[in-house]
Amino acid sequence: MELFYSIQGEGMHTGKASFFIRLAGCDVGCHWCDVKESWDKNIHPVKEVQELVQEAKESGTNIVIVTGGEPTMYPLQALTKALAQEGMAVHLETSGAYTIDGNFDWICVSPKKTKQPIKESLQLADELKVVIYNKDDFNWAEKNAAGVTDKCKLFLQPEWSKSESMMPLITEYIKVNPQWRVSLQTHKYLNVR
Ligand code: SF4
Repeated sequence: MELFYSIQGEGMHTGKASFFIRLAGCDVGCHWCDVKESWDKNIHPVKEVQELVQEAKESGTNIVIVTGGEPTMYPLQALTKALAQEGMAVHLETSGAYTIDGNFDWICVSPKKTKQPIKESLQLADELKVVIYNKDDFNWAEKNAAGVTDKCKLFLQPEWSKSESMMPLITEYIKVNPQWRVSLQTHKYLNVR
């Protein structure tokens, strides 16, 4: 859908310059999705792996984030291998709804209730990032945290339109449950993509 060089706004790698490869196509259907234009893959161009790698290289980045849409709807071995051959660290942002096919240096699973993550994806997660839209999402967060490994970092992130009402709840929750950390959509505060 789009390629751009920006700052990782969320989660463990917040603040790092990163090149984003946003793959089109998503059938997860989050009602608060802020990239609904990614859902229909047919309205976006098809590109060769080499074109994507070349653009990433030209940006000067050393981190590439494969995101979507839901990128794991596709086999990603060829893309991740080609990026790694150029010496770039390859990160993934996924809902975890599908099998992860590809080699990644960092996997962020952000589970969605509308199409729940599969067990295998949760087990591969380096980072679990749960969007908090309402109070019930704390239970949802714990349900998913029960499926990750000990190495996985845990983040709670307020849904952008609900930040004001959810942030105080998140703050109190993390004070009582310090295994969780806050993730904010800092790219929106920085006014970058
Ligand atoms: Fe949007 Fe991501 Fe949800 Fe798909 S998984 S609907 S791209 S927020």
